[in-house]
Amino acid sequence: MAKKQAGKSKDSTVNDSGSGNETKKPAGSKEDGSIHSPVVAYASMLGLLSSCPPFVIFLWYTMVHLDGSASQFWDFCKQQGLQGFLRICPKPTLIAWELIASYAAFEAALQLLLPGERVIGPVSPAGNIPVYKANGVAAYFTTLTTYIAIWWFGLFNPAIVYDHLGEIFSALIIGSFIFCIFLYIKGHVAPSSTDSGSSGDAIIDFYWGMELYPRIGKSFDIKVFTNCRFGMMSWAVLAVTYCIKQYEEYGRVADSMLVSSILMLVYVTKFFLWESGYWNTMDIAHDRAGFYICWGCLVWVPSVYTSPAMYLVRHPISLGLELSLGILIAGIVCIFINYDCDRQRQLFRKTNGNCLIWGRPPSKIEAWYETKSGEKKSNLLLTSGWWSVSRHFHYVPEILAAFFWTLPGLFNHFLPYFYVIFLTILLFDRAQRDDQRCRAKYGKYWDMYCKQVKYNIIPGVY
Ligand code: NDP
Repeated sequence: MAKKQAGKSKDSTVNDSGSGNETKKPAGSKEDGSIHSPVVAYASMLGLLSSCPPFVIFLWYTMVHLDGSASQFWDFCKQQGLQGFLRICPKPTLIAWELIASYAAFEAALQLLLPGERVIGPVSPAGNIPVYKANGVAAYFTTLTTYIAIWWFGLFNPAIVYDHLGEIFSALIIGSFIFCIFLYIKGHVAPSSTDSGSSGDAIIDFYWGMELYPRIGKSFDIKVFTNCRFGMMSWAVLAVTYCIKQYEEYGRVADSMLVSSILMLVYVTKFFLWESGYWNTMDIAHDRAGFYICWGCLVWVPSVYTSPAMYLVRHPISLGLELSLGILIAGIVCIFINYDCDRQRQLFRKTNGNCLIWGRPPSKIEAWYETKSGEKKSNLLLTSGWWSVSRHFHYVPEILAAFFWTLPGLFNHFLPYFYVIFLTILLFDRAQRDDQRCRAKYGKYWDMYCKQVKYNIIPGVY
């Protein structure tokens, strides 16, 4: 459907409905498709807004200075109290701001300047069709090649990034908060498209965001920058940084670090190869640009997602060839299955069902829905391949892959597994949110799908 309208569009977003600004219902309301009561939704928003920043500092300090031991941190807090915690909170330094600013400017320049195919995104709730430039793979390889080259030729030592990690994270925490305030103000005074609106509550607007597709000018897409080019890219950059830091400290890179970093790099490489597919997912097509998505990608991804390898820097564990290969292969298989689930869905939608899924023509449901402007549209729901196993089966290999790149740290401490646990909670919550949203969107057609594909995530269990 999007493809058909593509020929008409020259702008970076196209409105095919002519509808005015939409108004969101408060989080927690039934119309919002939320699974939580308004009180729970509000309390969790405030809880996350206030707890995520100190958690990032706690995680960094424990990984880098306390051997990854949460119990050592607990003892420290018992002795030193809140004052002690405040003392260890690093202040953002000039070098931290310089590193962040040069990285952000480099990524923004690549996003703007590198050539890429013109890609049409999915029709938005207000009927707009966002247009993107798909240059993620080029940006990814340019970034990694440049980073490794400047280290190799002695122009910059990435170990510096690890040495200033605490200051960088605190600068990111503050800078990204200010950036989210900018997004909030922009949503009020200068939204980029009609996919924007206020819930009438400042906290909800700040947390969940106001604009779906905020842009600077016509073509600089803010969510592509925050989620992909800053957030996901930083994951790969930091994985390389941790390897280099370990090499500088111990004169070698342990097989545990190699396995963990290679799996992370395979995952991020897969992400960039599939980046234009990502523009069809919930993060981009449904979640608005606010604290939840943008702060999360700017701060949580570099600090929490990379934490299993951050732990390994000072723990050069030797796994041996057999165990290393076993974990590596298991992790790559999981990443491949996760990729294949996403690929099947996107191929199926792109070809309007005229493709082969597991060697056969796919089975499907034609699901009708109404846009905000009252227009009737339809989408196809795939009911074969991975999408017949469960409605969100792709989350299983996603969680397992994260487990496999944490496993090289073995089981001496619990904290390196925080990301796996966090991801499991996030994805189970997300599956429920998505189910609610799709039921609200497709009604009886979604119920038909649920009858055919009974389980939400784990076949036979949930
Ligand atoms: P999906 O890509 O699964 O997108 C969900 C949407 O797909 C639904 O809202 C619906 O949208 C459409 N859909 C649902 N069922 C079907 C079907 N049977 N056939 C066709 N379309 C369907 O969701 P995510 O954004 O959650 O996941 C994308 C990827 O990102 C996954 O690989 C996931 O593992 C990964 N991910 C990683 C995270 C991390 O932090 N590491 C966090 C979240 C996701 P529509 O309205 O178009 O019908």
